[in-house]
Amino acid sequence: MIDNFGREINYLRISVTDRCNLRCRYCMPPEGCSHLIPHSEILTFEEILRVAQAAASIGIRKIRLTGGEPLIRHSVVDLIARMNEIDGIDEIDITTNGVLLGSMAEDLKRAGVRRVNVSLDTFDPEKYRLITRGGDIRNVLDGLDAAEKAGLTPIKINCVALRGFNDDEFKKFVELTREKDYRVRFIELMPIGHNDLGGDFGFISNQEILGMFPELESCGPQKFSVADEYRLPDAEGTVGFISALSHHFCATCNKIRLTSDGKIKPCLHSNEEIDVKNVLRNGTDEDVRNLLINSVGHKVAHHMLNEGAAPINRDMNKIGG
Ligand code: SAM
Ligand code: SF4
Repeated sequence: MIDNFGREINYLRISVTDRCNLRCRYCMPPEGCSHLIPHSEILTFEEILRVAQAAASIGIRKIRLTGGEPLIRHSVVDLIARMNEIDGIDEIDITTNGVLLGSMAEDLKRAGVRRVNVSLDTFDPEKYRLITRGGDIRNVLDGLDAAEKAGLTPIKINCVALRGFNDDEFKKFVELTREKDYRVRFIELMPIGHNDLGGDFGFISNQEILGMFPELESCGPQKFSVADEYRLPDAEGTVGFISALSHHFCATCNKIRLTSDGKIKPCLHSNEEIDVKNVLRNGTDEDVRNLLINSVGHKVAHHMLNEGAAPINRDMNKIGG
């Protein structure tokens, strides 16, 4: 489906839960549970599959499951296997913190997952514990190995760039792409929901990071990519920059989002939400389809964060990134 600004919308991100087994400081409030969405408000598998089916019928070809942490949703592998049966869906991917990948990678591959994005902001176990409020980095490293063995590749590594926290490790992330076919992506800190970084860490622009690595060569314009891709000469992998704030990625945006409590978000950086749960619970499949078409019509040309738009009031774990 083509939106009002000529962009082909073929990608649906589905947040299957707002719950998580970590509490990253830039994403979730420390209390975690007290703000969670009640179970009755979370879409069932049947409801998620109805949205996916309707989405496929209007031209969505790729689905990414996210969260919260998608791998903690009970029986998520079954959901994926059923989604994989939907005509028109060519690719199912997952964005995960990687903690459970060690035990789930093989099953995910069998169910139909093509590849995974794994979030990792540091290689230092202490710093990992600090930023995730208690996580054990060994689980993620095991998860990465398992994902590679299962063929959930090429693996993307999502690294939120934070001045004063991981800027001393950027070189290590970039160098990793020399020997591994990883797609490392630096993500600029976004002013979304709950940011509890304290005074010590803060925003650093991707432009500044790129300036630290003059040896990186541009891979040229990428269709349907929110990242500007670069490569070290002769490296296996690539280095990408997702710059929501300093550089609009809106011109190549090809997606809509479904939250775990049944809202369609036409734009990540806007508070506009369109309720699909009520239609799922009281309407027909045709109504769901029409609502999706209407949602694509609500996509804006570009976000207004730099022009003083209201901050996003959902925490990132309730959107899915
Ligand atoms: N739990 C999974 C994970 O961490 O990959 C999936 C959900 S998480 C909300 C999706 C992505 O959003 C992660 O890569 C995370 O680093 C990123 N993220 C969360 N809060 C962010 C923020 N305030 N600014 C930039 N990226 C953020
Ligand atoms: Fe959980 Fe992902 Fe948010 Fe971290 S970024 S708290 S892993 S949802």
